[in-house]
Amino acid sequence: MRHNLEVARAHAPRSRTWCVVKANAYGHSLVRALRAFDQSDGLALIEPEAAQQLRELGWVKPILLLEGCFDMDDVVLAQTRNIQVAVHCREQIEMIERSPLAEPLDVHLKMNSGMNRLGFVPAEYRQAHARLQACAKVRSIALMTHFANADDPANPGMPFAHQLRNFLDATDGLPGARNLANSAADLLHPQACADWVRPGIMLYGGTPGMHSAEYFGLRPAMTLRSQIISVQTVAPGGAVGYGSRFVAKETMRIGVVACGYADGYPRHAPDGTPVLVNGARTGIVGRVSMDMLMVDLTRLPDAGMGSEVVLWGDGLPIDEVAAAAGTIGYELMCALAPRVRVVETGNAPI
Ligand SMILES: *Cc1c(COP(=O)(O)O)cnc(C)c1O
Repeated sequence: MRHNLEVARAHAPRSRTWCVVKANAYGHSLVRALRAFDQSDGLALIEPEAAQQLRELGWVKPILLLEGCFDMDDVVLAQTRNIQVAVHCREQIEMIERSPLAEPLDVHLKMNSGMNRLGFVPAEYRQAHARLQACAKVRSIALMTHFANADDPANPGMPFAHQLRNFLDATDGLPGARNLANSAADLLHPQACADWVRPGIMLYGGTPGMHSAEYFGLRPAMTLRSQIISVQTVAPGGAVGYGSRFVAKETMRIGVVACGYADGYPRHAPDGTPVLVNGARTGIVGRVSMDMLMVDLTRLPDAGMGSEVVLWGDGLPIDEVAAAAGTIGYELMCALAPRVRVVETGNAPI
């Protein structure tokens, strides 16, 4: 995670970096993120409770709530713990205006520059800005937006350059720091790396798209490992697992791996989704069940009971597994289940 932060910074040398640690640091834990990202300029996330926890864990640098406040308790939390907040709608401005405390807030005024998810449209942006500027509860206003297609810039639904242009035109002449780039923009669009960047997935060694993580020099932070806990010899015509989705055409050796959807492995992974057994590539066979999945050992005669299995991570990019299963690395990381035993390796400092 430390190494990946260096990669993010090397691509955006003039920007300050918000390390995005939402969703339990994409499944890697807040405590680990706080340690690994101690050189970052700030931590950004969604969950107010986790923001409070970061303060309690001793994080004194900036914290940003990317969706801002959901209710008045969050506004009070932000005021008392010096937490910066996105402001994406009129209701959030009203909450800040009505807030009981005197402590002023640092806000990031979010523009809907074309993604049509959160934010003020360009035509309403300056009015929102003026209203925040007039509010005694606001100390500073940064200018923020989020890209729909930084990983796919020519997407005709909303080309990246068009969205960037919308933002730049609508903010022309406004004071305040610019806060735009997610991982894909950080890696691919230096012109969008302004005062702040907000990388997430790349910090954990996943790729936002376009190229492999390895191409960008990113290293997997998480490796999901297990073992073979049973081996079956299946005759031609024998079916494997629930629903008998996979039927052997030849005599096969099938390894049973202690990992299932209750660990966060995607249940919809099809036959052939890659896994490593003793470092060699093979594929899953049959439906993933809650606690187990099955793999083909027919061409791996040395593999058997106790052989190490890598589901993703070192030697097997999470993005590749995700693509085979029709999803993205983000979803796999975030869905890592609490029952998975976490073992820290490498030279994690105390
Ligand atoms: C999650 C998130 C990011 C990080 O996105 P990645 O694609 O993981 O780099 C950045 N900004 C906002 C507003 C987000 O919600």
